[in-house]
Amino acid sequence: MEYLRKHTDIKNRTLQFLDEAEEAVRGIWGEIERIRRYNSFKTLCAFRESGVANRHFFGTTGYGYSDEGREKLGEVFARIFRAEDAIVSPLVSSGTHALSIALFALLRPGDVMLSITGRPYDTLTGVIGLGEAHTHGSLSEFGIGYEEIPLDDSGAIQIERMMERLHKNPAIKIVYLQRSRGYEMRPAIPIAEMEKVHAAIQRESSDVLFVVDNCYGEFTERQEPTEAGADLIIGSLIKNPGGGIAPTGAYFAGRKGAIARTGERMTCAGIGTEIGSYLAGYLPYFQGIYLAPNVTATALQGAVLSAYVFETLGYGAYPRYDAFRTDITQAIHLHSEAELLALVRAVQAASPIDSNVTPYPWDMPGYDAQVVMAAGNFIQGGSIELSADAPIKEPYVAYMQGGLTMEQVKLALALAIQGMELEDRVAGE
Ligand SMILES: *Cc1c(COP(=O)(O)O)cnc(C)c1O
Repeated sequence: MEYLRKHTDIKNRTLQFLDEAEEAVRGIWGEIERIRRYNSFKTLCAFRESGVANRHFFGTTGYGYSDEGREKLGEVFARIFRAEDAIVSPLVSSGTHALSIALFALLRPGDVMLSITGRPYDTLTGVIGLGEAHTHGSLSEFGIGYEEIPLDDSGAIQIERMMERLHKNPAIKIVYLQRSRGYEMRPAIPIAEMEKVHAAIQRESSDVLFVVDNCYGEFTERQEPTEAGADLIIGSLIKNPGGGIAPTGAYFAGRKGAIARTGERMTCAGIGTEIGSYLAGYLPYFQGIYLAPNVTATALQGAVLSAYVFETLGYGAYPRYDAFRTDITQAIHLHSEAELLALVRAVQAASPIDSNVTPYPWDMPGYDAQVVMAAGNFIQGGSIELSADAPIKEPYVAYMQGGLTMEQVKLALALAIQGMELEDRVAGE
């Protein structure tokens, strides 16, 4: 702050306001700090127990038979997630790609997938083949059914309704849970609630698989869904578990059988995870997962601070600054399009990369409104780095997440206060 005071035109009172905001959220940051330490020990011990060595960083070529790095990386993830097995691969292009591989691996024609957190993340519409999006190659085209149960009014999973569906429809083979709110105004699902879901599934039928989209959730609590009974969890490496270092890829962790089937879908039947080379090597993946608990905690603390700042200035924050968190996303409810643009542009201007670029709204396939995005990231689209996006429509909600350093989050908030012309309101504090 001293540096910003000396070397930028950000007003003194804005910086003082941010200092006070930090003071006000100290207690909440403290609990996140304890989670950070817990999960950092967890990853460190997983590395030690797995015997990670320098040779595991080297890449291979061709088929990648006995690629030690690939295998060791899977072992480390499996230990961290307390799972029987895991696949970690730079060859999976995105979180959606990974979720698609997993669903095709576990479902067969005639089977039904039951989502218990309502409509899944937007990009899965095409994978499932929902609504008009009867995409070529979707699950629906292969005769795989889909049912969903929305969350109740309080944002909780309707376990009774799930039991009823499982009882009535033996074709249901997967209970699907999306942990993060994504871009919905609903709470993320705590690990404790997943335990209840797991127990309920076990009571009804033991051959139904419990699958969790873990994107944005890793390391936000002390436990992961695999420790609450999930059979398979899936996540993106350009979010929490990549620690801002992994350049691409995704992971799967869970029961041996589910992982074996996922591997056979990822490459091919009969070969599975025996192949897969990556010449660039696995160093950034090991480093990324090692640092991930720290980076995720910073992102969480940044979300808490952002929520507090905007709440104090009279805006809606979702979740509230002092709410329980089990993902890193933060929605801010602004009053106008101008404010939306100013916030997203402040996030861009505070970034280490492309800070001189001005984001403009543009038409995005699959969206009914124009979207404006800030993405001053090292990794393209990497949303464990501070990023913000917003559809240009009422109720003018900006979604923010990530942050490799707290300083970047603070600078973004300072520039937002400046850009949104809130400096006078700050003085009233
Ligand atoms: C990011 C994300 C995904 C996958 O998105 P990709 O952009 O394909 O990596 C899926 N579900 C949730 C909840 C996510 O946050």
